[in-house]
Amino acid sequence: MGLPYRSYSSDNLSRYGHRVFRVGIDAGFTCPNRCRSKDGSGCIYCDSQGARAAYLRTQESSYRHDSEFVDCIDLLSVIPPQNQGNDEKNLLIINKQDIVNQIERGTEFIGRRYRTDHFAAYLQSFSNTFAPCEKLKELYDFIVSVRRWEGLIISTRPDCIDESKLDLIASYRETCGEVCIELGLQSGNDEILKRMNRGHDVACLLKASKAVKEHGIGLCLHVLTGFPGEGRAELDQTISVINQVHPDAVKIHNLNVAAGTRLYDEFLEGEVTTPCLTRHVENVIHILRRIPSDIVIERLMCETPNHRLASPRLFPDKNRFLRKLESTMVERGFVQGDLCQGL
Ligand code: SF4
Repeated sequence: MGLPYRSYSSDNLSRYGHRVFRVGIDAGFTCPNRCRSKDGSGCIYCDSQGARAAYLRTQESSYRHDSEFVDCIDLLSVIPPQNQGNDEKNLLIINKQDIVNQIERGTEFIGRRYRTDHFAAYLQSFSNTFAPCEKLKELYDFIVSVRRWEGLIISTRPDCIDESKLDLIASYRETCGEVCIELGLQSGNDEILKRMNRGHDVACLLKASKAVKEHGIGLCLHVLTGFPGEGRAELDQTISVINQVHPDAVKIHNLNVAAGTRLYDEFLEGEVTTPCLTRHVENVIHILRRIPSDIVIERLMCETPNHRLASPRLFPDKNRFLRKLESTMVERGFVQGDLCQGL
């Protein structure tokens, strides 16, 4: 029996006949929201890893999945000094050899683990359009030239793209096939976005999403559930934005509190709680049932490494979470999109 939602793997298999694996690349970007913040912290839940792939965090390689929490900020300080500032013109220094090394390490690690040679380049860390267009072209051209890719995915912020950057990104469809932009929506409620210190509002996300789609670029929206102040009404606002945009894919994350974030300071003061397994399962089901069945679900939970995760400490690993989610949906007879009409 198939899954009660459209998973990334099943979508890949039906479209290409095989899975395409993403190779995370940290090209040295920073993020306008971090640059704007006085203390450089940006969104209050963002740590200085900026979503780097696990196999790129070499300084943390001694930690295991079941490691104890380590409250060590030094471990997290990885933003190179040249990437600290607030003018995108001078922020990105392209280190080609480092990028080649990352691609080799990523393809070797994933290739060995999954016995595959189908890869997409994934610019994942921080805001990967935060540089002038000429510099972005130099970087993207180089990445595309390193090997044969079956996709190019660029993660960024809705306030960090414009017409010329979108024209450039769309041009890689010729060499990479699928080209996709990932944008952080996080919440459809402006008050929550303010509290997250996202530095943009829902209107900005809607405008950026429209522009991405008009350029024929694939679109994935990131959503964060369980933030303080989010109840069903606020979650429904997020669902409403997803339905208005109708992206190709979404990534859903449960709130995690990581060391070295401003949210962690609030957590220590007792101001923040994070969703447990049951609450996150219910939140995810609430979302899945109300969004169209053709939206690909690329992620369903956050996977902060255990040694950096202050809360929730008792959340199960991904396989257990997925089993719980899927069995609950099947038992109740729910599938993605079954309540989508009429929203
Ligand atoms: S936009 Fe992303 S990289 Fe920038 S501060 Fe927020 S979470 Fe961090």
